[in-house]
Amino acid sequence: METDLMQKIKEMKDWLVEIRRRIHMYPELGFEEIETSKLVCEWLDKFGIQVKRGLAKTGVIGILEGKEPGMTVAIRGDMDALPIGEENPVTYASKINGKMHACGHDAHVAILLGVAKFFSSIRNQVKGNIKWIFQPAEEGGGGGKIMVEEGVLENPRVDAIFAAHVFPFLPIGKIGIYEREGMAAADRFTIKIIGKGGHAASPHASRDPILAAGHLITQIHSIVGRNVNPLESAVITIGMISGGTAFNIIPDEVELSGTVRSLNLQIREELRSRIEQISRGIAQSFGMGYRFDFEYGYPFLINDRTMSKLVASACSKGIGGENVEVLRPSMGGEDFAYYLEKVPGAFFRLGIRNESKGIVHPYHSRLFDIDEEVLPFGVEMLVRVIDEYLNLNLTHTELS
Ligand SMILES: [Zn+2]
Ligand SMILES: [Zn+2]
Repeated sequence: METDLMQKIKEMKDWLVEIRRRIHMYPELGFEEIETSKLVCEWLDKFGIQVKRGLAKTGVIGILEGKEPGMTVAIRGDMDALPIGEENPVTYASKINGKMHACGHDAHVAILLGVAKFFSSIRNQVKGNIKWIFQPAEEGGGGGKIMVEEGVLENPRVDAIFAAHVFPFLPIGKIGIYEREGMAAADRFTIKIIGKGGHAASPHASRDPILAAGHLITQIHSIVGRNVNPLESAVITIGMISGGTAFNIIPDEVELSGTVRSLNLQIREELRSRIEQISRGIAQSFGMGYRFDFEYGYPFLINDRTMSKLVASACSKGIGGENVEVLRPSMGGEDFAYYLEKVPGAFFRLGIRNESKGIVHPYHSRLFDIDEEVLPFGVEMLVRVIDEYLNLNLTHTELS
C-alpha cells in the first residue's frame, strides 16, 4: 500500500544522506569518476542488480529484469563535479582542493541508488526491466553522447527514459517539468580577425584588428535583436577576447569566442550564418582577413509530451498537482538531450530551495548546496514515474 512505499523511502533517508555526503566530500571531474563509479557498482552489486561498467570510461549501467516480461524504462544520473573550490562551512564540504559538486550530481547518484535499493526489495513485483544509467562528464564533456554511442540504450532496448535534476529555483517539495522544449542547443564559435601589426602612432601603415573587433562585437549583438523573431528565443554571448601585447603596439590579430543558444534548428542555423556573414563583412570593410570556427555542442533537450504528462501525473499522486510546476525552457545546455534524441522520455526538476536553511545559491556557485530532504523526495518521484510507466500499480497494491 501507499504507506509501505513511503515507509520504505523514509527508512533509507540516513543512508541516502551518507552516500551523498561521501560523494560530496570526494568530488571527481568528468571522465575521472573512478571512486564514485566504484561506489555505485558496489551498491548495485549488493542489491543483486546486474552491473555493466566501462562505458564512456567511468560509466556504469545497472539492470534489473522483472519476474515478468514488459517494457524497459531507464533513469539517468550524472556523476561529475566541477573545477571550483567549495566555500560552504559544512562538515561534509569538499576535501579536494579546487573541485566541488556544485551542480548536485552527488545527489543524483544517491537518488538513483535509492531507487535501486527500493526496487531490489520488491523485485518480484516488477514487470519489465529497469535500467540505471550512471554517466560521466555531463559538465561539458558530453559523457551522455558517448554512452549513447556505446550502446547504453540497447540490450535490453530502452523504451522510455527519465532524468531528474535538482533545481535551486524551486522550493523543496515541488517538481518542475518542461512540456516540450527544455534546454537550449549550446554551440561555440571563435572568430579571428587578421590585421597587420605596427606602431601605435602610425595606424595608417597597419591594419588595426582591435578597432575591427569593436565593430564586430556591436554588430554581432544586433543579430538577436534584428534577425530573430521576437517571439522566439536566442542568446549570443562573447565571453572571451584576446589581442595585443603592449599599449603602443597595434597587434596582428584579435581573437573572440563565445556561445550561441537556441531552441530550434532554424534559429540555430540562422545565428551561425549571420555571425559568419558579419565577420566576413567587417573583415572586408577594414581590408583584413578572418577565420571563423563554429563548434556544435549539446543539442536541444526536447521532452516527449506524453512522457512529460506521465511525470506530472505520477508525481501528482504523491505531492498533489499544486506542487507540480510547468517550467519555461532554459537557455542552459544538458547532455541528457542525446538520450532524448533516440528514445521518448522526459527531463524534470526537483526543488531544493530552502531559505530557512540558507539553500538559495545558484548552480556552479561556491556556496551551492541542496536541502537533503530532496534525497528521499527524489527517490519517491522516480519510483512513482517508473511505477506509472511499467504499470506496476505499486501505489495501489500491497508491497511485499
Ligand atoms: Zn552544471
Ligand atoms: Zn548538472
